[in-house]
Amino acid sequence: MKITLAKTAGFCFGVNRAVDIVEKLAELGEKVCTLGPIIHNAQLVAELEKKGVRIINSPNEAASDEVLVIRSHGVTAAVEEDCEKFAKRVENATCPFVSKIHKIVNERSLMGDIILIAGDEKHKEVEGIRGHVKGESYVFGDEAELEKILKNHPEFCQKSISVVSQTTFHKEIWEKSEKILKKVCTNAIIFDTICNATSKRQTEASELSKISDVMFVVGGRHSSNTNKLFSICSENCNATYLIETADEVKREQLIGAESIGVVAGASTPAGIIKEVISVMTETIKTTDELNIGAEISDDMSFEEALELSLSSLNTDQKVHGVVLAVGPTEIQVDIGRKQTGYVKAEEFSYDTSVKLNEVVKVGDELDLIVMKTNDQEGTIMLSKRRYDNIANWDKIVEACENGTVLEGKVTEIIKGGMIVNALGFKVFIPASQATLTRGADLEPLKGTTVSFKVLEIGRRRRVIGSVRAILQEQRKEIEAKFWENIAVGDVFKGVVKSLTGYGAFVDLGGVDGMVHISELSWQRIKNPAEVVSVGDTLEVYVKDIDTEKKKISLGHKKPDENPWLIFTRDYADKEVVKATIVSMTAYGAFARIIPGVDGLIHISQIADRRIEKPQDELKIGQEVDVKIIGVDEEKKRVSLSIRALLEPAKEEVAEEAAPATEEAVEAPAEEAAE
Ligand code: SF4
Repeated sequence: MKITLAKTAGFCFGVNRAVDIVEKLAELGEKVCTLGPIIHNAQLVAELEKKGVRIINSPNEAASDEVLVIRSHGVTAAVEEDCEKFAKRVENATCPFVSKIHKIVNERSLMGDIILIAGDEKHKEVEGIRGHVKGESYVFGDEAELEKILKNHPEFCQKSISVVSQTTFHKEIWEKSEKILKKVCTNAIIFDTICNATSKRQTEASELSKISDVMFVVGGRHSSNTNKLFSICSENCNATYLIETADEVKREQLIGAESIGVVAGASTPAGIIKEVISVMTETIKTTDELNIGAEISDDMSFEEALELSLSSLNTDQKVHGVVLAVGPTEIQVDIGRKQTGYVKAEEFSYDTSVKLNEVVKVGDELDLIVMKTNDQEGTIMLSKRRYDNIANWDKIVEACENGTVLEGKVTEIIKGGMIVNALGFKVFIPASQATLTRGADLEPLKGTTVSFKVLEIGRRRRVIGSVRAILQEQRKEIEAKFWENIAVGDVFKGVVKSLTGYGAFVDLGGVDGMVHISELSWQRIKNPAEVVSVGDTLEVYVKDIDTEKKKISLGHKKPDENPWLIFTRDYADKEVVKATIVSMTAYGAFARIIPGVDGLIHISQIADRRIEKPQDELKIGQEVDVKIIGVDEEKKRVSLSIRALLEPAKEEVAEEAAPATEEAVEAPAEEAAE
């Protein structure tokens, strides 16, 4: 006995694509609903239901947190709008071949054409097509119905008419209808929109049913294309059975048959077809001859042979194509062959986060690899990712040989280093090669893009890289440029990197300079930490450069903030001012006139009588009125007197007795002011 399985059995491109979209959404944890069952196959629909995929009958049944999938048949333009209104998101899984018909009828009807559609008026695909017509449309199911329409509308002969067909329309009826149209309406523009997959499937079913004793058509009883296959096979073979699952295969159907033919609808999962074949061979206990439409070697198991027949041809051929359309999940590409090329989103780039409509547009040219060719359906599945992968590996090898700099995104921090994804390959960067500072925390680098050099390529394409090598080179370049351009007087805004007892080291942008403690403040300070902290931004200027020793001395104090200058500008000799007692010695008290300028009140100038010690009259922090009785510009000393305010008559005598140059003590600011 010979069992022949049609080459075209199994999912067509459009159905496969729609099921794929739903399954992927469910896998991603999305709440999914489909507008009607996604395919006419109860078993697969039940499987999807188990994964939480809900069937709704109208867009307004979609919950606001659900992704609504429009099935491969397509819907009317109005329903498409409703879907957008009610669902969280819409994934339009309308088969591209059906979308093409929507486009034709929409454009032609807007141009004023009357649209004739060959198909089943009640079929959802035909309803959808009519819903894209902007004017009059008529549907005919066979030649008789077409003739009736033309008879009722004799004016059609004079008018512009466009004719399309349902994708699964009966090929023979279409050809006969075409002849009638060409005879009656010579002005009709006829678009043969029967899907290639459908016509091949029907042709094969017709041929197989002519040479088989028994025919099995596997598919959903509600599936239009399955029913058409059944009708085609029934015309040629009396013993034709339509079955949905393997359970329906009965022994009595097979008895006496020398040859059994099996065809399947476009929405029949491969698993069900395999089960049907298995049950048949098991039932009749024979594997005499199995012809499953593929090149099968002797040592292949039944399973392997069947898998081969259900899978399409794989090639690794490189092709060049032009983008025809860009959708959310795939792009359509013309590669100069009769088949239409498709690149699924996951085959576009190694970066799974890319959004197709952001990175590719109609008219772009792409280099691609052929993954699968399906002549029955007229489709070629292509991959840009795989093409890039081959080209990118060459780039990595070249980078290793030539020291070229590559870029990549840090995807993982692992023990001992981090993983960078570059050109679709994982590159290991050891911790010691990840930063300039050994032992640095690598976590902040996660998610960032880094430049690196390839240090080596190990076995099994293990790539090891170094970010540090790049950072070191960058630092050297910055330093060289810095030393070329730096000049005394240059002003920088630098960051304090470290502090010592004698000053602060400031990063000037790759090169450090030092601000001496005396340069940090006009006040007298004991430690730099009193006025700056690590991380502070300081405005500094270059005081001195030692290019040989690579040392830069920096200044920070601003001349116009010099307290002595402020004092001499704002205060005059003999002026009475308020001052604060800041310290006391045996010979007098120091009083602060302004920060950075303290004057001495000699013990003889504290009171109008003789006192033992300053503490008898004054205390630290006390504010007193004092008279400036002497200013030594050279030594930057100020002499003050309280007594002069108490005894004006004796003031001059006191001043003579205590000249400023002898009594005054150096103001703390004087060193800095020089
Ligand atoms: S039969 Fe053709 S038109 Fe219909 S879904 Fe399949 S590939 Fe698309």
